[in-house]
Amino acid sequence: MKKIITCLTISASFLLLFSCNDNNKLTEVVEVPLPTKEEKITIGSPDEVKAEPGSFGLTKLPFPYDGLAPDIRSLTLETHYSKHYVTYTNNLNKEIVSTEYENMPIEDILKKLDLNNAKLRQNAGGYYNHTMYFNLLTPKEQTPKDTLVGAIDKEFGSFSNLTNQLKGQATKQFGSGWVWLVVDKLGKLQVTTTENQDNPLMKNALIPGTPILGIDLWEHAYYLDYQNRKGSYIDAFYKHINWEKVNENYIEALKKVKKV
Ligand code: MN
Repeated sequence: MKKIITCLTISASFLLLFSCNDNNKLTEVVEVPLPTKEEKITIGSPDEVKAEPGSFGLTKLPFPYDGLAPDIRSLTLETHYSKHYVTYTNNLNKEIVSTEYENMPIEDILKKLDLNNAKLRQNAGGYYNHTMYFNLLTPKEQTPKDTLVGAIDKEFGSFSNLTNQLKGQATKQFGSGWVWLVVDKLGKLQVTTTENQDNPLMKNALIPGTPILGIDLWEHAYYLDYQNRKGSYIDAFYKHINWEKVNENYIEALKKVKKV
C-alpha cells in the first residue's frame, strides 16, 4: 500500500498515476485531467432564442427557463428549447426550401410526407412535437376544465383514469418516443405512443388522430434532472400541463372531425 501512495503525484491540473512494479517490468503513466474550476453555466432567456429565417418559427415560451423549477430545471429547459427545438426547426426549414412543402401547414406536411424521407420525417416531427410540448407547459399546476373535463369523464371514467393511462403508456414506452392524448377520426379521445419523432398525424400511426397533448419521452427531456428515473420526470411534467390549452386544442380538433 505504501508503495502505491509514494507513486501518486498531484500537480495543479493533472493526477498522475504511476503503476509501480517491484521487478521494473512495467511502468504505466495515466494522466487524468482534474477539473480546475467550477465551470460557469450561464442561463439565457427564451426570448433571445430565434430560429434561422425560414417557413417555420419557434413557439414562444411564456415564462423564464426557471419557471418550472425544481420539477424541470433551467438547464434542462434551456437546452431542450434553445438547442434541440431550434435544431429541429432549422433543419425542417432547410429541408423544405424549394419543395412542395415550403408553404404547407405543418399538419399537412406530416400527413403527406414519405416515411422513407428520414430527414424530413425526423425534423418535421421534431418541430411539430416540440412546438406542442413547449406550448403546453405552465408554471402552476392545473386540472382539466370546461368541455374537456366532461369528455374525459365520459370516455375514461375520470381524470385519474386518464392520468393512469398516460403515465402507464409513457412508462412502458421503450426508447425515445412520445405519449399522446389524441382525438381520433371518430372524435373520441385516445391515449397512444409513437417512436422517435413520429406522431399520430403520420401514415404509420397505430391510432391516427389529432394530438391535443404530447409528452416528450426522450432522455434529453429529463436526463439532467432525473437520470434513469423516467417515471419521476413524467410525474413532474404532469404538474406543469396547461390543461386550458389542451381544452382549446380539443375544441379545435373536434371541429376538424365534424368537417369530414
Ligand atoms: Mn425533446
